[in-house]
Amino acid sequence: MAEFSQFGGGGRLRHLLTLDGLEPDLIRELLDRAGAWLSRPGELPRRGHELQGWTVANLFAEPSTRTRASFELAALRLGADAVNLDMMLSSRAKGESVLDTIYTLQAMQVDVFVIRDAEPGVPEYVARHVEPQVSVISGGEAHLSHPTQGLLDALTILQYKGGFRDLAVTIVGDVRHSRVARSASTALAALGVGELRLVAPAELMPDADEFPGALRFESFDAGIAHADVVMMLRIQRERIAATPQPDLARYHELYGLTAARLHRARPEAIVMHPGPMNRGVEISTDVADGPQSVIRRQVTNGVAIRMAVLAHIAATRRGCAL
Ligand code: ASP
Repeated sequence: MAEFSQFGGGGRLRHLLTLDGLEPDLIRELLDRAGAWLSRPGELPRRGHELQGWTVANLFAEPSTRTRASFELAALRLGADAVNLDMMLSSRAKGESVLDTIYTLQAMQVDVFVIRDAEPGVPEYVARHVEPQVSVISGGEAHLSHPTQGLLDALTILQYKGGFRDLAVTIVGDVRHSRVARSASTALAALGVGELRLVAPAELMPDADEFPGALRFESFDAGIAHADVVMMLRIQRERIAATPQPDLARYHELYGLTAARLHRARPEAIVMHPGPMNRGVEISTDVADGPQSVIRRQVTNGVAIRMAVLAHIAATRRGCAL
């Protein structure tokens, strides 16, 4: 099949399917733009007109709380109409193909599809088939990619740490099945992160040819030592049905982030988690709600990042012949 490009004219995004291949300058521009959509605590959320007259459709075939709600709010705050389709309940469950659903919504003049699917390749497949003026954004593709999550994680680290070069970032848990870890590490590598560490039991560690340059640890105590950023991941139980499920109490003992373990990181280290959290499994409640946790800031940043991506894509469409 012919190579597919997510870029429109001038190196700008027409779609956003993956962070692979994004120039560091473009990532920085998106983080910068997102920063401008953030309001101060107590203020009303910022709004814009960049998507006035547009329609954004969220088509999610896997559960979602943060990503779906934030794409909807981002679209509304930029002046678009938004429609949410739970693909687990839609006509797909009655046998309608993904493309028939897309063509149906395209006939209702949808401009942007946000797609989440458990199957690899669905966002690109849709992007190959939409009309030339229509864009596709991945809201999470299997275990492979979650580009807006990678961007919001980078923005959060930038806000607290001011840069990337001198940082040790430790990602802990089910890295093997995590699209969050893949997209975050792609963004961080592009931005020149000092050191990326992966901590996981052998069966949840990704294959050796993935995460180039990352240091790998089976011991959490070793991998967290003097870390600046600790990113915790949920066990993706829905993606490991074939293998025995881990013993959760034992998992917490070995790979749960507790206050005692967090002491091994730098005193000013931040704790991240993409959600949903399993308290008492990969993270204890006192850490999740503690002073080093930036988990809710990640959520706030998620809306701003999605506004930045939508506004960028709208500008691509206005500025370039597609
Ligand atoms: N919400 C994130 C995702 O969709 C992380 C998770 O589900 O564990 O990948």
